[in-house]
Amino acid sequence: MSLRVIFLGTSGAIPTVERSLPATLIQRGREMLMFDCGEGVQRQMVKARVGFHRRMKIFLSHLHGDHVLGLPGLLQTMALMDRKVKLEVYGPEGMKAFLQCVRESLQFGLTFPVEIHEILDAGQVCSEAEYAVEAAKSNHVIPSFAYAFVEKPRPGKFYPEKARALGIPEGELWSKLQHAETVTLADGRIVNPEAVTGDLRRGRKIVYSGDTRPFRGFARFAAGADLLVHDSTFDDALSDKAEEDGHSTPGQAAHLAKASKVKKLVLTHISARYTGSSLLLEQARAIFAETVVANDFLVLELPLSE
Ligand SMILES: [Zn+2]
Ligand SMILES: [Zn+2]
Repeated sequence: MSLRVIFLGTSGAIPTVERSLPATLIQRGREMLMFDCGEGVQRQMVKARVGFHRRMKIFLSHLHGDHVLGLPGLLQTMALMDRKVKLEVYGPEGMKAFLQCVRESLQFGLTFPVEIHEILDAGQVCSEAEYAVEAAKSNHVIPSFAYAFVEKPRPGKFYPEKARALGIPEGELWSKLQHAETVTLADGRIVNPEAVTGDLRRGRKIVYSGDTRPFRGFARFAAGADLLVHDSTFDDALSDKAEEDGHSTPGQAAHLAKASKVKKLVLTHISARYTGSSLLLEQARAIFAETVVANDFLVLELPLSE
């Protein structure tokens, strides 16, 4: 299953010539999961050629305008394009009222169902056959969530020679064993999948901080992630301002990446005051080498681990 992250918007608060407002898209096979939904996100989607008709879930970290004002426009564009597939939106309390109000004021009809899930507490917010999304309460100036997308473990590698040695006929029984099911042979013997497969293979994990100061428990929440997408609004010299506004600096994000032993750190939600990214990158890399600063339309592929 392919898994990639596409950065559709990487600024914080104010868009710039180079950076659109926050939106981070996970594309998993034919499905899309979007984290935050900044203004103009549908145009970024057109540019990234990701389509408007796929199965999709949107997760909002908090109800600041730069993270949610893209949602009404996106819904309207989808309706104009005659989307039929249900759209699921997850986010903090108040989101339902916000959408209701916009829809009533603008009187726009939708061609597809929108299912709104307000999240009241930390924990798992959705669970599908192959992945789950968890939320953690982060530390911003209003209630805000960080999210972890976690794939469920895949069955271990199948060894045909072991199956043959046990006299299991090729076909349906092999297929069941490959899908981690226990089977009964014609002679009554019961074979567990572990007898013919390797260990379970871990799924991939992507963590999105949303807007946040460093907070207790985040290292555990992000532990072992393949990718950590983190708020890096201000550089280290402006840590007082970051603290005041409920944001993080590259150094703080890098310390977190190191403590949680993630594979890669991506800095995003970059203040409009920075025209280049070298200062932010330098500060983070001094602590955690595997760091990049996101740009709009950066695409990161996450291969399956064996
Ligand atoms: Zn923001
Ligand atoms: Zn905010």
